[in-house]
Amino acid sequence: MLGSLIKNCHYCTRMHAESFMKKMYPVYQPSLRGNELKYVNDCLTSGWISSKGKYNSAFEEAFAAYLGVAHATTVCNGTVALHLALLALGIGPGDQVIVPTFTYIASVNAIQYTGATPVFVDSLADTWQMDPQDVQNKCSKATKAILVPHIYGHPCDMKSLQQICRERKLFLIEDCAEAIGSRYEGSLMGTFGDISAFSFFGNKTITTGEGGMVTCHDPQLIEKVKKLKNQGLSDKEYWHDTVGYNYRMTNICAAIGLAQLENIDRFIADKRFVAETYQSAFAGSPLVIHPESPNCFHSYWLVSLLLPQKDLRGDLRKFLKAEGIETRPLFYPVHTMPIYDHLTTESFPVATDIAGRGINLPSYPDLSREDILHIAKLTLQFTKDHE
Ligand SMILES: *Cc1c(COP(=O)(O)O)cnc(C)c1O
Repeated sequence: MLGSLIKNCHYCTRMHAESFMKKMYPVYQPSLRGNELKYVNDCLTSGWISSKGKYNSAFEEAFAAYLGVAHATTVCNGTVALHLALLALGIGPGDQVIVPTFTYIASVNAIQYTGATPVFVDSLADTWQMDPQDVQNKCSKATKAILVPHIYGHPCDMKSLQQICRERKLFLIEDCAEAIGSRYEGSLMGTFGDISAFSFFGNKTITTGEGGMVTCHDPQLIEKVKKLKNQGLSDKEYWHDTVGYNYRMTNICAAIGLAQLENIDRFIADKRFVAETYQSAFAGSPLVIHPESPNCFHSYWLVSLLLPQKDLRGDLRKFLKAEGIETRPLFYPVHTMPIYDHLTTESFPVATDIAGRGINLPSYPDLSREDILHIAKLTLQFTKDHE
């Protein structure tokens, strides 16, 4: 009889009476209520659990069709998707690749893996994305490419970036890890550059647990990516003429990805609902939700909140944590990390300001209106009390 009242706590190792358990809100949790189980069961019962099997090609075809691009190939995570994109374009030692300092570390690491040098740029105050004027300033003879991450799901200024790439004959690589389903002037992110990379980590808009995709329009470029992800295999079996990698995705991951993609429109609609509900709850307060530019469609990978002062952040995060609400700080500017701080002596005032004042709130598609209003109310209350 007690069994129904006393439950295993998901968050610690003890047992609690159910009524004492506070509802917990992680920043993210995937929604896996579609065909995921059915397709994964198919992999297990058929024995196709490696990268061979039908789900990789099915996921690639569905993904290319969704995006409206000619080619897509699965890989085992988003970081290696970027690595292969850079390698396929021939980027390596002696080359410079321009990237914003306000991004996730993987955008910069992928450049470093190739032996090329990352060159940092600042961000724009309104969209938080890379500043095209600063890109112009940082171009040199050694610049080969611009790596364009659409941070938190808001598109970069593609018109300006494409123009710079055209004028200076640079490659444009889109890092769409956070921006599947986002649009710039009506077109989906991932369709603007020479090549694009996506991530399907557990907290991304669609997930395979760990996983990624490389997409492009050029058939020769995708062949290079496929060869590099598959140990540099030549046309002859077991004969390798390039030093490649094993960056393949398993059939099981692809099965999950295919099922996730079937529900992408719902996920994005739910995420926009989450962002809009926070936004209206914070209206008239000094708290600002990451705004959407008029020519853009923001997929709100994670809902980001900008606080009026930097020194509020630590205490607000502690307060929310005690209420069972997880938050995370926005990305620290990469140029400040000891592994990369030798690359520049410049300051990046906009990126530094935004990164220092922002947090991500619980942002998963299954949050209810009541959940969101509860989180917003506590956040507002804390901010008022500390004005
Ligand atoms: C998640 C992410 C990546 C890397 O993806 P993984 O699948 O975690 O390797 C790359 N760039 C950005 C901007 C990301 O958010």
